[in-house]
Amino acid sequence: MGKNAMTRRQFVGAASAGTLAALASGSLPAYANISNGAGKLAMKGGRPVRAKAWPEWPIWDKAAEQRILSILRSGNWYRGRGHTVSEFEEKYAALLGVKRCICTMNGTNALLTAMHVLDVGVGDEVIVSPYTFIATYNVVIGSAALPVFADTDPETFQIDPDTIEQRITRRTRAIMPVHILGIPADMDKIKAIAAKHNLIVIEDACQAWLAEWRGKKCGTLGDLGCFSFQNSKHLPCGEGGAVVGNDDAIMDRVHSYHNCGRPYGCVEKTSSYPIVGTNRRMTEYQAGILLNQIQRLEADTERRWQNAQYLTSRIKDIPGIVPCRLYEGTTKAAYHLYPFRYVKEHFNNAPRGKFLAALSAEGVPCSGGYGPQYRDGLIEAALNSKNFKRSFPKKRLDRYRQELDYPGNDQLCAEAVWLSQRMLLTDKSDMDDIADAILKVYENRDKLA
Ligand SMILES: *Cc1c(COP(=O)(O)O)cnc(C)c1O
Repeated sequence: MGKNAMTRRQFVGAASAGTLAALASGSLPAYANISNGAGKLAMKGGRPVRAKAWPEWPIWDKAAEQRILSILRSGNWYRGRGHTVSEFEEKYAALLGVKRCICTMNGTNALLTAMHVLDVGVGDEVIVSPYTFIATYNVVIGSAALPVFADTDPETFQIDPDTIEQRITRRTRAIMPVHILGIPADMDKIKAIAAKHNLIVIEDACQAWLAEWRGKKCGTLGDLGCFSFQNSKHLPCGEGGAVVGNDDAIMDRVHSYHNCGRPYGCVEKTSSYPIVGTNRRMTEYQAGILLNQIQRLEADTERRWQNAQYLTSRIKDIPGIVPCRLYEGTTKAAYHLYPFRYVKEHFNNAPRGKFLAALSAEGVPCSGGYGPQYRDGLIEAALNSKNFKRSFPKKRLDRYRQELDYPGNDQLCAEAVWLSQRMLLTDKSDMDDIADAILKVYENRDKLA
């Protein structure tokens, strides 16, 4: 029987039979500190598994304040009058193993810039994942292109590559894979589909700093890659972003476009404007913060990666807890969030909200993640806009409305549980706290309802 032929209930049943067999054979791993996890749920007045605080984010380094102060005092606050942005661009490109990097004022504008210079815009269709931060939708709609969603694979939390081709039409120009939660999408399949249909690939790597696919950094695998340096991100400066790429001609265009259309190599003084541009430049003090934050990125990334793998090993056999599966090509995941699925059938049918509340009360803050945002109204508003009505035949938009149906994504939106990246910046014993808390909630599942 194929995976698709199996109903969800049969699937759950098979999983639980497997778990029962594991229990009977004693092959379920021994849980450390189990006594810590036993007893009354904290939600019901018991003692929480963990009282200790988790790290705050971002982490500022006082030693870097002199650089920021000297930028402020110099009055040279924009990149035309300093070298801080260029210095960071060189460092980040070197770290990613990519030829060029150009900073923008945020990740949203990095994506808009990439789309513009690759001529993806009015009347085009772009295949995207519905399971992403809303900016991915917004940049496609903001470019007057149609965001055509492929379904999400609930096992990997990523775009399901096997649902891409059926969504391709003669208007499709690009695929925009998102390495959501910092976990690589299946770039082998996505790139093969793009090559077959002659499509552009713009990677939304806005959560995937230093994540790797077959040893190469995410964001360097497509035609262009985009990053965010917003406050919550792993390489933060409040607001910031970057476009990276290996093609000099394209990257020259990125530079020109982000700098008012001035010819590349001509940062300030010119009377010639050969192309239409915009101003998406990063400031010097943003880059000053980044030059400090980049110093911790590799070690932080490695720590999150090691801790995430250990946590997965600790929770993978708890019935009803399904850690995110990594594709075989993943050589490192950045874990902007640590995700797993909660299958309520194993928890006495307690709704996910109860599980989230119980786990949070044990000292392990968590959330349910993205909802089915394409039902929130923004898509319908876009379809009814002047731009869209002029750029797409009514027949196409009508069919598009009928196809807004994503069972994989709906399942994931209902089952996902996220832990914050900052919880992974700790030690193995802290991962044990998380696992023990989940196990404690499992053991008390009959008291969740
Ligand atoms: C953060 C983020 C963006 C947008 O970046 P900003 O810097 O906030 O504009 C785009 N896509 C994804 C997946 C993101 O997480």
